[in-house]
Amino acid sequence: MPSLLLRNASLVLPDGIVERGWLLVEDGLITAAAAAPGQPEPDLDPRTAVHELAGRHVVPGFVDMHVHGGGGATFTTGDAEQAATVARFHLGHGTTTMVASTVTGELSDIEHHVGELSGLVQDGILAGLHLEGPFISKARCGAHDPALLRAPEPAVLRRLLRAGAGTVRMITLAPELEHGLDAVRLLTEENVIAAVGHTDATYAQTREAIGLGAPVGTHVFNAMRPVHHREPGPVTALLEQDQVIAEVVNDGLHVHPSVVGLMFAAAGAHRVALITDAMVAAGVGDGEYVLGSLNVQVRDGEARLADGDSLAGSTLTMDNALRNAVRLAGIPLADAAVSASLTPARALGLADRIGSLEAGKQADLVVLDEDLRVASVLRKGERVEIPSPF
Ligand SMILES: [Zn+2]
Repeated sequence: MPSLLLRNASLVLPDGIVERGWLLVEDGLITAAAAAPGQPEPDLDPRTAVHELAGRHVVPGFVDMHVHGGGGATFTTGDAEQAATVARFHLGHGTTTMVASTVTGELSDIEHHVGELSGLVQDGILAGLHLEGPFISKARCGAHDPALLRAPEPAVLRRLLRAGAGTVRMITLAPELEHGLDAVRLLTEENVIAAVGHTDATYAQTREAIGLGAPVGTHVFNAMRPVHHREPGPVTALLEQDQVIAEVVNDGLHVHPSVVGLMFAAAGAHRVALITDAMVAAGVGDGEYVLGSLNVQVRDGEARLADGDSLAGSTLTMDNALRNAVRLAGIPLADAAVSASLTPARALGLADRIGSLEAGKQADLVVLDEDLRVASVLRKGERVEIPSPF
């Protein structure tokens, strides 16, 4: 692969933006990057391709740790071809690393889906699998079929982990359920992320789960007991504990931008992870869809259960989540980029390889135009074809 120099770029680094910067890509890796404005370029091999970026921003490729679908396809049926379509769709929006999220279903179906999707993890298309449900609270089940919910019995967890053959990276669960805390312990021992979510847990119960190793809050504020000043609930416990990373669906709808601002103020960009929680309709448009076993209607980009009013995932893409952080919540671009890449990479244990524009890391890059829209994407140093913008 010929090496590539990006010249005259605004490099978005974790602690700030380097104007008039440059970045060298060789063999799929970032091998050098300017650390200060106007720093002289390295001596280049004459075969190096040089791209003049005219001051456009370069951010690290986005890492989406919670996504169900997009581009008219879904992870939730376990169909490998559809899953590859989802991955391609989001890659065109700058997501160079993603974890596929399933939804509540019959145990045998989830087991089957996990088995099917594990091949895409082994092929490097997905970074892992996330099981959202069935180990969640009936009171906070959102767009999950309440008839199929169950307690996280250790034997059941082991069965699903076995089906994934090491590819299940995260399981969302409600720690207050029977076996809930044992499940957190078991997952922690197995090096699987126990994510607290879809939960009616109290503050004390959540603190206990965090103490036993639960390091992630699943779409914090959504589908969990709300904050009350005498019962601060899971939200407060998750935001105040330094070892926890808090996911947020940043579409301007799931969480009000001022509350997104509150999350950043409370936990900082290094502990807030932007996620899409996107479903099949992302990038497609309004209409009738299915999520797991439930019917969903999408109107004006809002996905809700046909039966009831519950939000049923989003139609968000990560570039949009980043823009919303900057434009709606007033988060500085460097911080928003940390939350779109480095923080979720750290949650997934991948921050040594991806998540920032640092020498030695994989050359996963997104060039943004002046409106913070995706102009080009590189994954492992290779240019990704961008589909026509929606
Ligand atoms: Zn979800």
